[in-house]
Amino acid sequence: MLGNQILQMLKEEITNIEYERYIKQLKYDEKSSKSNYAVYRAPNPLIANWVKSKYAKKIARLYEIKTGIRAQVEITVQKKNIQRKSAVQTNPQKNSPSTKLNPSYTFENFVVGNSNQFAYTAALSSAEKPGQLYNPLFIYGGVGLGKTHLLQAIGNYNLQKGKSVIYTTIEQFMNDFTYHLRNQTMDRFREKYRKCDILLIDDVQFLSRKEQTQEEFFHTFNELHNKSKQIVLTSDKHPKQIAGLEDRLKSRFEWGLIADIQPPELETKIAIIKKKCELDGINLEDEVVNYLATTMDNNIREIEGIIIKLNAYASLMNQKITLEFAKSVLKEQIKEQQENITMEDIIKVVSEELNIKPSEIRSKSRSRQIVNARRIVMYLARNLTPNSMPALAQYFGMKDHTSVSHAMKKINEIMQKDENFKVQIEELTNKIKHSQ
Ligand code: ADP
Ligand code: MG
Repeated sequence: MLGNQILQMLKEEITNIEYERYIKQLKYDEKSSKSNYAVYRAPNPLIANWVKSKYAKKIARLYEIKTGIRAQVEITVQKKNIQRKSAVQTNPQKNSPSTKLNPSYTFENFVVGNSNQFAYTAALSSAEKPGQLYNPLFIYGGVGLGKTHLLQAIGNYNLQKGKSVIYTTIEQFMNDFTYHLRNQTMDRFREKYRKCDILLIDDVQFLSRKEQTQEEFFHTFNELHNKSKQIVLTSDKHPKQIAGLEDRLKSRFEWGLIADIQPPELETKIAIIKKKCELDGINLEDEVVNYLATTMDNNIREIEGIIIKLNAYASLMNQKITLEFAKSVLKEQIKEQQENITMEDIIKVVSEELNIKPSEIRSKSRSRQIVNARRIVMYLARNLTPNSMPALAQYFGMKDHTSVSHAMKKINEIMQKDENFKVQIEELTNKIKHSQ
């Protein structure tokens, strides 16, 4: 059946866990579907809403790929449930948006380190005393660093306390706005967004150049703020940096507290990986965890994807996730990353870290400090670039590759003896990967 084939295609694009938790629960409703209209039934409103917000677009796109027809995708609750809970079907607009919260995005599941401590503490205090401390709270930082997680943690925390919470991305807000404008039901739109206790808006950078939505959002903001209702916003940039955002909104976003999230340092990255494994019941040896933390990018979402991929492959092949196995699975991915790292990147990071000039590292100086730095560069270059030992010897103007191989040996020896040195090498590796 077409509807099921599409879900199989979707399976390829998402993680196993997502598939098992949400997509597998869907039933294709062949009778209600047409060539340009696909209907799936979910067992409960929670899953229906979750699938709707996270996967409906993907499903629609897969229909288009498969059939060439752009289909409208409908996710509703299974019929027998609908009769009991008629509100869900007859009035989907009134359906509480708070059900879109991912229940695992809680404060307990959030790993705190230097990089995110400030944002975490600010989020937790706002959750505990909504509207009283920082209003608005504005969290910003790079992709996959936990902004949505913290935002929804505030939501989950307050839902439990029986507060009315609205979580929405700015895009959904915009769509909702257009919908109600078109249907002349703006009073309902306002009722919805201005009567909540806590408004959580994700990815406000997309307000950029959307004048009409900015205007509406401005009034929503003012009304909630006047009533001391908590507003929390996230963005990939500081408000000042959002181009095409009205000054009056920029200034309001700065009224409360602005908290940034930085890329995680190695320790935090390791702790996050461990936490994810614990939550998903995946067993990873420490050496595999360390390997992933040092080789993978800082985007936690990508790291999660890899962990799930590793786990899926391992169970498919009935194999333990050893370091070797992890390396082989990641080989392709790392190869791509390696191609982007240059000798200059490595020298730049090492010279900054050890406070030695790049020209000194490239020189023939025999001072102990410089020899040491040069060795570190060679070691890192062997690991992070496709350069061979002879190529490195040539780069440093050495006679042949024996000096490079000697440097490798030395670094390996020190790493085995000196834990601090090992950590320093890991930190350098981490920095180089993200220096580009
Ligand atoms: P963003 O919104 O900043 O792009 P997300 O909040 O979607 O990032 O985070 C991506 C994934 O990484 C989520 O699954 C989230 O749970 C996880 N994550 C990010 N930071 C942390 C952290 N400090 N502790 C636990 N999980 C985290
Ligand atoms: Mg996000």
